Amino acid sequence: MPFVKELEQEFASDPKFNHEYLWFLGMDTFNKRAPEVILGKGSSALLEGRAFGAQTVSGTGALRMGAEFLVRHLHYNTVYLSAPTWDNHPLVFGYGGFKDIRSYRYWNPASKSVDFDGLLEDIGKAPENSVIVLQLAAHNPTGCDLTQEQWTEIANVMEKRNLFPFIDAAYQGVATGDLDRDAQPVRYLVQRGFELFVAQSFSKNMGLYGERVGCLTVVLGKGRAQDATNIISQLKLIARALYANPAKYGAEIVSRVLSDPALMEEWKKCLTEMVHRIRAMRTRLKEKLHLLGTPGNWDHITKQIGMFSYLGLTSCQMEYIRVTHHVHLGSASRINMSGLTYMNIDRVAGAIHDTVTR
Ligand code: PMP
Repeated sequence: MPFVKELEQEFASDPKFNHEYLWFLGMDTFNKRAPEVILGKGSSALLEGRAFGAQTVSGTGALRMGAEFLVRHLHYNTVYLSAPTWDNHPLVFGYGGFKDIRSYRYWNPASKSVDFDGLLEDIGKAPENSVIVLQLAAHNPTGCDLTQEQWTEIANVMEKRNLFPFIDAAYQGVATGDLDRDAQPVRYLVQRGFELFVAQSFSKNMGLYGERVGCLTVVLGKGRAQDATNIISQLKLIARALYANPAKYGAEIVSRVLSDPALMEEWKKCLTEMVHRIRAMRTRLKEKLHLLGTPGNWDHITKQIGMFSYLGLTSCQMEYIRVTHHVHLGSASRINMSGLTYMNIDRVAGAIHDTVTR
């Protein structure tokens, strides 16, 4: 993003800029600002001191550190992931110590949308004190998100069955282009009084993939602010044992942006532009398939949001499109919409058409 490049030039010419170690849980400014992005500046949990952030090695580090804390200190044993989910989730939670990794239904291949009845039934049967990992926005890999009504129903079940929400916020802002709107579900859970973890990532929404900037935001229940000190001291030990110190360079960039209203505006503009471009690619791909008369209903391409789309091709078709057209799709025909451009989209549409009509 252009403002990131400008900040980098500023750092490069600043004689005081250094490459010192950070504290085990990262930069203070970052840890103050990152939770505000996800919970909202006026969040009661933040104002009451019962929510705090710990800088991690990106979203993956936040998930891993949170998982280990839940197993080691709260003795949780069972975690539920969506089916399908990001393929690293089982590994991260498994290495984090969870012995019992289960899934809840999420994708309905027939309707090419969320299998909400299946989801509710599965988490409704979860043993008490299970951890439920819920992706906040722009679900990877399906591109299908939950509605507010669905979040409300999930919250009812989680409350009744004493389930612990672990929110994976890897794509805040990438679903709608609006950071606040994408964060709504987690703010809703906090307002309902849930204790929860959020794994935040700045990989996608600030384009800082390789700099590994993330945050484990912890929200405690009302009146439990005093527990923060103990939790922080245990998180420090986990971080220290895993990697000692999180990375500094990207955190400097993010901290500067989050502390400067003008840079925040720049960031929001870039996010909106990014989301508009991805949407334009979705529309173009769907239109192109309609123009070509490709059999099937392709409405799901524009209904799905964020970077990913489940095209709905069979494994046989995926093999054909790869071998014949050299169009490579992720497992279960996931495509990353941001890889489509005006230069290659017609070729991709033509390849899909040929594959489906074969
Ligand atoms: N969660 C999900 C759902 C993801 O798709 C990803 C990255 N692909 C991550 C977490 C972790 O990303 P990072 O470690 O780069 O923040």
